[in-house]
Amino acid sequence: MGRLDGKVALITGGASGMGKVASSLFASEGARVVLTDVADEAGQAVAAEITAAGGTAAYVHADVSKASDAEAMVAFAMERYGTLSILYNNAGVMLPEDGSVTDTDESVWDRTLAINVKGVAFGCRYGVPAMIRSGGGSIINVASFVAWMGAATSQTAYTASKGAVLSMTREIAVEYARRGIRCNALCPGPIDTPLLAELLSDPARRQRRFVHIPMGRLGRAEELAKAALFLASDDSSFMTGASLIVDGGITAAYVTPE
Ligand code: NAD
Repeated sequence: MGRLDGKVALITGGASGMGKVASSLFASEGARVVLTDVADEAGQAVAAEITAAGGTAAYVHADVSKASDAEAMVAFAMERYGTLSILYNNAGVMLPEDGSVTDTDESVWDRTLAINVKGVAFGCRYGVPAMIRSGGGSIINVASFVAWMGAATSQTAYTASKGAVLSMTREIAVEYARRGIRCNALCPGPIDTPLLAELLSDPARRQRRFVHIPMGRLGRAEELAKAALFLASDDSSFMTGASLIVDGGITAAYVTPE
């Protein structure tokens, strides 16, 4: 018995990092998975791996910043599998040119907000009606611990985008609670994925970050996928509008261990 037996999960940004690991985990727990991305080759490879392992998965191209793509990915899931139970709005970017508020260009703001904020909104825009037609479901919106904490090494547009995801999640949760839809925010701390690789390739920047993590290490994509699985499954059936922080203790810390 899998924890997601009978469910259909749509996972955005499923070609890499946490979305990739979650796609495999959800499939191994019995979900039929539709994973979407803009990295088509990598996305197709993830779907093929899942299928080869005996799971059910399909890849579809969808740039979440485009409403028409979001509409098409939900339609694809409904046509292919007839129902939608889980929407995992995971796709997101952290652009290298994103920095202090005084030196972050308009183009960086536009791209970051288009993918990280509008992407989540468009997923919900088309996902919510499909889920209502399916008899309800669980939405997981990926925010970040930076929606809760400020850093002197800032990525202002990224941080603002994740704050928006957090507040949007609460509103969606409240509005649709009586129509069988749960909507929660997953707030990862720093996780060892390609998204962080460039930021942490510089030893000084890496050390500056590590000192604030009580556990003294990065999280692993598997550790976040398991938290997402909890939110996706009926194990979290009385949870909505919540923020699940999975961050190695960062948001609890005032002074970290030596
Ligand atoms: P990742 O870069 O490994 O994966 C993100 C995926 O999203 C990639 O496959 C990428 O191609 C895809 N993507 C980018 N733009 C897209 C678009 N317009 N449409 C569809 N797909 C698109 O990153 P990750 O670390 O696994 O990040 C997953 C989520 O977790 C993101 O929302 C990220 O902001 C968030 N997050 C990451 C960390 C971290 O430390 N890695 C911490 C907190 C939150």
